[in-house]
Amino acid sequence: MRNSKEKYFKAADYLAAARRNPTVFGGGQSFMVRGLFLGKFQPFHIGHLEVAKVILREVDEIVLAIGSAQFSYTPENPFTAGERIEIVRRSLLDGGVDLGQCLIVPVPDVGTHSIWVSYVKTFCPKFDVVYSNNNLVRTLFIDAGYQVKPSPLFNREKYSSAEIRRRMREKKDWRSLVSQSVAGYLEEINSESRLTNIGAPKQEEHTP
Ligand code: NAD
Repeated sequence: MRNSKEKYFKAADYLAAARRNPTVFGGGQSFMVRGLFLGKFQPFHIGHLEVAKVILREVDEIVLAIGSAQFSYTPENPFTAGERIEIVRRSLLDGGVDLGQCLIVPVPDVGTHSIWVSYVKTFCPKFDVVYSNNNLVRTLFIDAGYQVKPSPLFNREKYSSAEIRRRMREKKDWRSLVSQSVAGYLEEINSESRLTNIGAPKQEEHTP
């Protein structure tokens, strides 16, 4: 039968279908789908913002998990978890996103990959589906039984955290790669001087 429950074999698809067809799925219940979007967000840029908007078209709430939360003041991880929360929040507001649908959570790294997903689950509110293009992140969540969806890419050559950090170090235009009040905040915290003083990473960076 076309609307039978059986065809929805993945948790998030099941929940999304249940929201669309409440009577088929028992009616009366509240079905709320939460998506996890995880990244270092060093810093969160317009590409990340566009991904968050796309995810919010598919789910009711988004958990924005700020990975490697314990790192700051290094060439690859210049901003603290607190600063990154501020940046993500401002960017979402600039993008017209309803903050009531967003939970921003810092998640430190853990030495053993095999226990990392349980660690993420400990820090984050419950989520149903994970959005990531990072192969390690995808593999760890798939092995833990989660539905993992690729996140769409938005002009990745241009919107890249590594590119923003490079432009900050070289005092070139980075402001156009982040939203307006994020640019203001990054100026407020003297990010250009911080990046210049910390210096360039030892090896060419390949991370976004
Ligand atoms: P990131 O900030 O580099 O990227 C976040 C996401 O944004 C990625 O899915 C990326 O594809 C996407 N993105 C980047 N530019 C984009 C653009 N222009 N348009 C659309 N999407 C774009 O973060 P990351 O490297 O994916 O973060 C993974 C985190 O998980 C890190 O903090 C890492 O340390 C952590 N992690 C930890 C462990 C552990 O502790 N054992 C294991 C695995 C992963």
